[in-house]
Amino acid sequence: MEKVIIVRYCEIHLKGKNRGYFEKVFMNNLEKALTGIRHEMRKPSGRYVVENFDEERADEIVGRLSKVFGTHTLSIGYKVPADMQSIYETVRSIAPAEGTFKVETNRGDKKFPLTSMQINAEIGGRLLSDIPSLRVDVHDPQTVLNIDVRENGTALVFGGFVKGAGGMPVGTAGKGMLLLSGGIDSPVAGHMIAKRGMVLEGLHFHSYPYTNMQAREKVEELARILSEYTGGLTLNVVSVTHIQEEIHRHCPEEMMITLLRRFMMRIAERLCKATGAQCIVTGESLGQVASQTIEGMTSSNAVVSLPVLRPLVGFDKTEIVERSRAIGTFETSIRPFEDCCTVFLPKHPLIRPKLSEVEAAESKLDVEALVEEAMASLEKVRF
Ligand code: ATP
Ligand code: MG
Repeated sequence: MEKVIIVRYCEIHLKGKNRGYFEKVFMNNLEKALTGIRHEMRKPSGRYVVENFDEERADEIVGRLSKVFGTHTLSIGYKVPADMQSIYETVRSIAPAEGTFKVETNRGDKKFPLTSMQINAEIGGRLLSDIPSLRVDVHDPQTVLNIDVRENGTALVFGGFVKGAGGMPVGTAGKGMLLLSGGIDSPVAGHMIAKRGMVLEGLHFHSYPYTNMQAREKVEELARILSEYTGGLTLNVVSVTHIQEEIHRHCPEEMMITLLRRFMMRIAERLCKATGAQCIVTGESLGQVASQTIEGMTSSNAVVSLPVLRPLVGFDKTEIVERSRAIGTFETSIRPFEDCCTVFLPKHPLIRPKLSEVEAAESKLDVEALVEEAMASLEKVRF
């Protein structure tokens, strides 16, 4: 009996004619997640089976594959010859010592001499006589022992299910530019959008030397964690130091964040065009802070023509924190750091900026030259 890992996918089967394409992207993503681990992947109908790996690495493989979007559930199981004796011995080896169970069989090979019900009954019966402290409970068993009889003369036997990341395979829903700060929200926003199948690049703004290297390292760590879900991620890093100095020098103090946001959006749009990204993604949530009002969002939307996706717009902070813990970015996000937004932080930021006043204030700046200069500071880091 050979250890295998069974991967089942989510919504892909809903995609009708595109199914082949979705499956191909998904399989590529699974393969990418296993880079550096010896294995073979097969695709019998409706699932993927990973075989021929070092059995000690099974948990590691499951850990990596469970993060790939599109994965519904995974099981560690065994591949055995499809005869009742081999199947029984394998089921016996993974059966619990006590408690309630049921056997569930899926018979892919309709030529197999027994029906699913007959297999359940025979294997279940033999288990009951071999392990006296087991009881059958077909409605609410503590353990389900699964048998999957395949067409090629083999059967898969497995116990539990591990929950996968869900969603759609990354690469099936276009490409977006994620504005990635060092905070809690933006990594969660990126995760949500990638989960719907979108490829992401990250864009981080720093204000070196007002912000330090630790802030940068923190964002890189967040990008690295995200890249585990997205099958790699390019982080673009741009300096907005001079932009902030110019706003500080020429514009009303309370407009600092409003104006800075507009520059961030312009730079993001430039990068979208350069990289083929079709939208901008941010971690804003309505009303969370002074700059995240509908007026603030209107003011920043006004300078770009691409859509701005704000997946967290209706989320409470507590919900965002929960997600951040679940995806593993929280501990990194709460490390102390300075954000470019806290440089020249106004005492009373504008809560409901009027577009006409924002534009009037901005007219004191050479917007085009400042964007151009910021673009020249672009660095790319690949995760
Ligand atoms: P976060 O937790 O994501 O930092 P926040 O609650 O601190 O969000 P803001 O600082 O107002 O909110 O930022 C709102 C959004 O603007 C962020 O979610 C992010 O998408 C973007 N953003 C803010 N600062 C930066 C930055 N330095 N680099 C890139 N994007 C940023
Ligand atoms: Mg922030």
